Formats: sequence, structure tokens, C-alpha cells
Amino acid sequence: MSLSIEGKVALVTGASRGIGRAIALRLARAGALVIVHYGQRKEGAQETVRTIETAGGRAFAIGADLTRTAEVDALFARIDSELAARGAEKLDILVNNAGIGGGGSLAQVTEEMLDRLIATNVKGTFLVTQRAAPRLRDGGRIINISSMVGLAAYPGSIAYALTKAAVNSFTRSLAVEMGGRGITVNAVAPGATNTDFIGKLMSDPDKVAFYARAAALGRIGEPNDIAEVVAFLAAPEGGWITGQVVEASGGMHL
Ligand code: NAD
Repeated sequence: MSLSIEGKVALVTGASRGIGRAIALRLARAGALVIVHYGQRKEGAQETVRTIETAGGRAFAIGADLTRTAEVDALFARIDSELAARGAEKLDILVNNAGIGGGGSLAQVTEEMLDRLIATNVKGTFLVTQRAAPRLRDGGRIINISSMVGLAAYPGSIAYALTKAAVNSFTRSLAVEMGGRGITVNAVAPGATNTDFIGKLMSDPDKVAFYARAAALGRIGEPNDIAEVVAFLAAPEGGWITGQVVEASGGMHL
């Protein structure tokens, strides 16, 4: 499958590292001009851009804290001017990847943690999508990075899980709203994936073995495993899928 998105413009949030970085590299390899959004790690985003350019692709980086409305507005003002300078106008693909985690049971989650999780994973995703929607070309793509914890009971990450369930719900409603414009909206729900996000888990061999055993395919995911699913949904080949939550976990906890 060629999965070509040659000439398309993609915005990937949180692309300075981890899954977002892998998605940015993959979409650039498929031919997209990639806007590498970052929260705080400018050097990481610049490294992502350099890696894309070294491979012959096109990308540029813009920073913004997605929990702050003014910064989200500034991000899109910059996107407008940077795209105009490159002779492009519209976005074709939005990947809402930026997110934070946080463990804890009902009794352990503080109000501050709950606010931060909702502000980043739910409000940030919503605000970015709201501003991206009028800039998206008809026939475009919105892909939200959710989590398998939003699909089942995860009492040890009760607040994080609710934010990802919210992203799944948002995905379905938005798919109906955007369908008339031929824009597909899907979520990709990773299982445990080897990034800094689960750095603590990855440094504990017992936990790594536990999660590897919990997956039908016998290992923890890599960022590229997720990026390939996103590339499919972003490409013309994925165009008949909308409103879906695609779990990409190697068959975890089946
Ligand atoms: P990561 O921590 O490496 O990357 C998260 C990215 O989000 C970073 O680039 C960070 O800067 C950005 N970000 C966080 N808060 C932000 C804010 N307020 N403003 C702007 N950017 C912000 O983690 P990752 O594993 O690459 O996670 C990517 C996505 O995948 C997240 O949405 C996460 O919930 C989801 N996910 C990860 C796993 C996993 O096991 N790694 C599993 C399921 C889902």
C-alpha cells in the first residue's frame, strides 16, 4: 500500500518526542508538509524537523501551550502566516496527539491533577480542533490519539481514563458534524507504548514483562506501531473509516 499523502499539509501536536514525533516523521515520509507542534521542548521539535528534512521531507516547528486559549490562537495565527509563506493555505490533516498522563485512584487524584488532565487532554484537543476545522480542506482528516484506557475500566488511572473516554466521545460526535465536508474523524487508542510517557514503567523489568505478557503479540508497542495506523487513516486508503476508535495495542488485555 503506498499510503501517499504527497502535497498535503499535516499538523501534529506534541511532536517533539514520543508518538507525536514518530507520526510527524511517518507523515512526512508519506509526502506531507508537517507542522511539528511542541509544548516546551523546542530543541526536540527542531530535531524532529531536521530529521524530516535530512530524509528529504518538509516540516517546520511551532510551540504553544495547548491549555492556554491565547497560545492556541497564536499557534494558528503562526500556522496561517507560515503556510502562506510556503504557498499553502489550508490544512489537510490534524493529529491531536499532545497529552499528559497521571495515575491514581478516586481517593488519590487531587483537584489540581484532575484540572490539568482535563485542560490538556480534553480542552486542548477541543480548542485545537475548533480552530483547525475551518482551516481544514474538505476531504481532510482528523485523528485523535486516545488510549485503550478510555475503552475499559482502569481504576488505577481513573482521571486519565476519563479524559481519553471524552476524546473517544468527541471523535464520534465530530465525525457526524464533519461528515458533510468529507472529513473523516477517528481516534487511535494505543496500549502501553515505549515513550517517556511510561518511562517509569519501562525502567522496571517486572512491569515490562507484565505488560508484554498482557499483549497477544507479546511485547510493548513502539511509537512507529502507532504512526503506521495514523498514516493509514490519513491516506486515501483509510477514507471510508470515520467515527471509529481504533485500538492499536498488540491485543492488550483481550
Ligand atoms: P510524551 O510524553 O512523550 O509526549 C506527549 C507530548 O505532548 C509531548 O510532546 C508534550 O510536550 C506534549 N504536551 C503535553 N502537554 C502539553 C501542553 N499543555 N501543550 C502542548 N503540548 C503538550 O508521550 P507519548 O507517549 O508520545 O504520548 C502521546 C499521546 O499518546 C498522548 O496523548 C498519550 O495520552 C497517548 N498515549 C500514550 C501511551 C503510552 O503508553 N505511551 C498509551 C496510550 C496513549
